[in-house]
Amino acid sequence: MGNRARTGHQDKSSDLHNKFSMLRAQLETLSDSKLLSKTQALNDRERKLGLTVLFHLREIDKRRLCLPLGYNSLFEFCTRHLGYSRVTAYRRIQGARSIGRFPEVAAMLLTGELNLSVVSLISGIITKENIKNILSRVSSKSYRDAEISIAMYKPIETKGRDRVKPVCVLEKKSASDIGTDSGTQGSGKSLNVETNPCNYNNDTTNEINLCPDVETDSSGEVGSFEKTVKIELKQKFKLEFMVDPEFMKKLERVKSRLSRKYPGGINFEMLFNIIMEEYLERHSPEKRIQKREKREANKQNIKTTPRSKQNRDSNKQRNHEQQNKLRHSTQETGNMNNKERSRNIPTAVRDKVYKRDGGRCAFVGENGKRCDSTWNLEIDHIVPFAKGGNNSPENLRLLCAKHNRLEAERTYGTDFMEKYYRKE
Ligand SMILES: [Zn+2]
Repeated sequence: MGNRARTGHQDKSSDLHNKFSMLRAQLETLSDSKLLSKTQALNDRERKLGLTVLFHLREIDKRRLCLPLGYNSLFEFCTRHLGYSRVTAYRRIQGARSIGRFPEVAAMLLTGELNLSVVSLISGIITKENIKNILSRVSSKSYRDAEISIAMYKPIETKGRDRVKPVCVLEKKSASDIGTDSGTQGSGKSLNVETNPCNYNNDTTNEINLCPDVETDSSGEVGSFEKTVKIELKQKFKLEFMVDPEFMKKLERVKSRLSRKYPGGINFEMLFNIIMEEYLERHSPEKRIQKREKREANKQNIKTTPRSKQNRDSNKQRNHEQQNKLRHSTQETGNMNNKERSRNIPTAVRDKVYKRDGGRCAFVGENGKRCDSTWNLEIDHIVPFAKGGNNSPENLRLLCAKHNRLEAERTYGTDFMEKYYRKE
């Protein structure tokens, strides 16, 4: 930043500072009644302005303007572009969509009979049939009271919503744990102690060194060395979700399968980690690429290994190669000189594109903002397949479903794509 820019910024903030000092001084001279009536007037203006913002958001939503800017959703646009908090973004979007469907909601927002939190509460349940009844139940009510008076409309809530809540937890860490923990994963300890080496005599910002003479270590043994106990503040996430009995049965089966390896029991975090690792091992493009590279390296090794071993392995290898021959001939290259042009993009090419684009939507908006969404990723032909584009990695990229659709509409027109989606 240049000096001029910095000075400009300083000027602005000192300007503001002066304005605020003047305002404070003015307010101090106001009579009580004047102060209250002015606040009321500001409140009315704020409500009007808030509603105007909702109408703007609604129009942006209707025109899907966030997509060309590189945002995957109106929510992402509101949080990242407009700087709203997640809660504010959620409420305003619900509000914007509700006033689009029901003008009476806009009217009540303006008079203050409804506030945005109540609108977001009812937005999922109002229909043309029940709106009159619901609005009369929640009119001029606080969020809590409104929630109670429309509970009958939300039986679905008994199903429970999945929740992810960031939390900080205090974890005990004793000197003996620090010394011996490595390799104890799966020993059934309820405490998941970090294994990174750490000097427990040096206080770090997030460690509290409890008085060594008072505290014992987690095993309760008292020894001069083991008496040091640390409390660590750790970032965690609290997950909450409902499951059905079938899920519980499956969970028990998985736990029994793992019980030999973890005789002391296993907590949910460890269990889900194992399951997710297993899934990613099988299904992630990165792993497939690794395996492919390993296969290639093995092939090279065979060429240089002694003949006796080579003979032993050669049958297996030959079978494997025959099986893969056809596949590989097109897979590795996505070669377009094939006689038959195929829409099917070989897995190896897909994986290559996935790795190159970092597993994220590669759409770049007009302002240079890249989408980066990892959700619903699809492979897109940069020169469309129907217009002769090939399956080489250079002509392919990852796009999230929404940007893929946007690009398709840009290429083929909205009307054409509408028909296409309807057919689907
Ligand atoms: Zn995208």
